[in-house]
Amino acid sequence: MYSQFQQHLQRELAEIQQAGLFKNERIIVSPQNAAIKVDGGGEVINFCANNYLGLSDNSELIAAAKSALDNRGYGMSSVRFICGTQDLHKKLEAAIARFFGTEDTILYAACFDANGGVFEPLLTEEDAIISDVLNHASIIDGVRLCKAQRYRYANADMADLEQQLQIAQAQRFRLIVTDGVFSMDGNVAPLDKIFALAEKYNAMVMVDESHSAGVVGQTGHGVTERYNLRGKIEIITGTLGKAFGGAIGGFTTGKKEIIDLLRQRSRPYLFSNSIPPLVAAAGIKAFELLENSNSLQDKLHENTEFFIKQMKYAGFDIKPTESAICAVMLYDAALSQTFAARLINEGIYVTGFYYPVVPKGQARIRVQISAAHKREHLEKCVAAFVKVGKELGVI
Ligand SMILES: *Cc1c(COP(=O)(O)O)cnc(C)c1O
Repeated sequence: MYSQFQQHLQRELAEIQQAGLFKNERIIVSPQNAAIKVDGGGEVINFCANNYLGLSDNSELIAAAKSALDNRGYGMSSVRFICGTQDLHKKLEAAIARFFGTEDTILYAACFDANGGVFEPLLTEEDAIISDVLNHASIIDGVRLCKAQRYRYANADMADLEQQLQIAQAQRFRLIVTDGVFSMDGNVAPLDKIFALAEKYNAMVMVDESHSAGVVGQTGHGVTERYNLRGKIEIITGTLGKAFGGAIGGFTTGKKEIIDLLRQRSRPYLFSNSIPPLVAAAGIKAFELLENSNSLQDKLHENTEFFIKQMKYAGFDIKPTESAICAVMLYDAALSQTFAARLINEGIYVTGFYYPVVPKGQARIRVQISAAHKREHLEKCVAAFVKVGKELGVI
């Protein structure tokens, strides 16, 4: 049997190669940081990690993790409700709820699991989920696992959302679902308008703050801060794998009864291992740092503003962004790959994206800014963009 299947797989892999869509992984041999060492010895400045607050290699998080490793051991070997809950898990859940101004939090192994396990326990075929077309893959998969009626609206298109809400009046309960920041453009969901439509059409709102928490809003508390909606959104999901240290772990935070029911019925919570104590301890430390000081968020905002201003001044076409994601538009797929390859030769590590990851004719290089970037890193990045941009006739 396998030899036939093997040939089938080999053909599929060859097709991916021929379409130019094969994903190769670059090997890093240093901690994740603003400057990283890659296999082969080179050092590059990293502009493609989700390390928004520079916490991935933070010494206080590492110390907290080491201490938990010594005092609480390595793994939990259990799901939460059997014997997998330490005080550290409860403390982290409380810290996340404080950060977002919500009532309670439930932890998962990843935000992929949080989104996979949030819809099915809460909604039935009598209900409706109204989802932005550009929502993250994990939201799409989570919605698929739920029997609720599905509606989709064009990205951040409020007229379309309103139309879908009108049709969805046929159902019992309605839940609008959106990413906080969309990862390819860096645009922030218009949560103020979404919330107003939810009020008008008697719906609830869920926002995935994975790319926005720690980043968006005056003090980086996410899109609910940006739109003055703290405590008003029923469901927030997010990750510990981006701004908050970048290790592993996800969460759903929001209304108490929602979290209570998820603890009883959410399958990725009930049937999957607890996060390790060292990850919980480092997570608690991350939220403690952010509670005590706003310096990392301020630094990130300053870096992002500086970079975008310099790039626009140099003549690059940048998508409007309110996040730390900066899409440098090149429009041509081949050009995006050549451009990214030349940048790595200049010591700048970025990724070029093209169809089907972004719409046809919308190829780009995505730059992700971090609080860990020093001014000289940003200046070097802009200078490399200008050099390659001139060579390739982009500016
Ligand atoms: C990264 C991301 C996730 C997945 O988070 P993990 O914790 O890595 O599973 C989910 N949703 C959105 C919007 C994301 O950007």
